[in-house]
Amino acid sequence: MKGRLYIVAGCSGVGKGTLLKLFLKQNPNIIFSISATTRKPREGEQDGVNYFYVSKEEFQNSIDNNEFLEWAEFSGNFYGTKKSFVEKTLNKGIDVILEIEVKGAAQVKQKMPEAVSIFIMPPSVEELEVRLRGRHTESEEAIQKRLNEANRELEAGKSFDYKIVNDNLDDALKRLQDVFDSERRKQC
Ligand code: ADP
Ligand code: 5GP
Repeated sequence: MKGRLYIVAGCSGVGKGTLLKLFLKQNPNIIFSISATTRKPREGEQDGVNYFYVSKEEFQNSIDNNEFLEWAEFSGNFYGTKKSFVEKTLNKGIDVILEIEVKGAAQVKQKMPEAVSIFIMPPSVEELEVRLRGRHTESEEAIQKRLNEANRELEAGKSFDYKIVNDNLDDALKRLQDVFDSERRKQC
C-alpha cells in the first residue's frame, strides 16, 4: 500500500517547526520532506537537514525541469518540494510530511486530493508576533513581511481538513498525533 501524504501549514512563527520536531521524534516511521529554498540559512540550520539551500538560478532550473511537486514565493524567497523524493517515499509505503505555506498546499491538494491537510493556528495574532520576534531569527523588515502574510494565510487555512490551535505545545502535539492516528485507522 502507498504511504499517505500530509501537509502541515500555518503562519510563520506559529510553531510548525517546533511541533514537527517533537512529532517526528515520537513517529520515526514518518518522513519529513526537505524543501529547496533560496532563503539564506539561519544560524544553526544545516544544508540537507533543514532545507537544501540553492541559488535563484538553481531554483529556476528545477522549475524549468518540472522537478517540483509544488513551489511558491513567500516573503521574498522561493520554496519548493522535490517531486521525485515524495513519489519514491510514498511508493515505498512510507508516510511523508510536507511543511509548506498555503499557496503550495493548494497546489498539492489539487494534484493529490487524497493528501491530508493540517493547518496550525496561533492562539491570537498578537501571540504570533510575540513568537516571531521571540525567535530572534529575522530582521525587523522580514518580521513585518511575515506578519503581513499572516491574515491571508489564516483565511486560506479555513479550507484545510484539520485545524489545530498551537496554544499549549503539549496539547497541540497530542492533537496532531490524534489526527495521524485517526487517519491511519481510516486506512485499515
Ligand atoms: P514556525 O516553524 O511555524 O515558523 P517555530 O517552530 O520556529 O515556528 O516557532 C516560533 C517560536 O515560537 C519559537 O521560538 C518557538 O520556541 C515558539 N513556540 C512554538 N510553539 C509554542 C507554544 N505552543 N507556546 C509558546 N511558544 C511556542
Ligand atoms: P521559513 O523561511 O520560516 O523556513 O519558511 C517560510 C514559509 O515557507 C513557511 O510557511 C514554510 O512552511 C514554507 N515552506 C517551507 N518549505 C516549503 C516548500 O517546499 N514549499 C512551499 N510552498 N512552502 C514552503
